[in-house]
Amino acid sequence: MVLKKCPGQDLSRKKIEEVVCNLPCPFCGEEVEFFFDDKTRKCPSCSTKVSKSDIQLLKDFGCADWCNAAENCLGSDLYIKLKQAKEGCTKPK
Ligand SMILES: [Zn+2]
Repeated sequence: MVLKKCPGQDLSRKKIEEVVCNLPCPFCGEEVEFFFDDKTRKCPSCSTKVSKSDIQLLKDFGCADWCNAAENCLGSDLYIKLKQAKEGCTKPK
């Protein structure tokens, strides 16, 4: 069985800069490297848990927001995470 894959999420076509982003640790300012599907990472310097904002997460996923193949591409765990992030963004606070 061949799963339909969305080219937008095909990592082999992506450059490393497109799948990795650095966010500063809120505690010590050290740059923490996030892979595109990481939601939280530990700061390498002070071990503070750094969270990627939902807005950044959505930006990184790009086409998965509207692509029908997104659930197959990302796997259901990640897809659910993305949907939750989206709800968090669009819900009025
Ligand atoms: Zn830190």
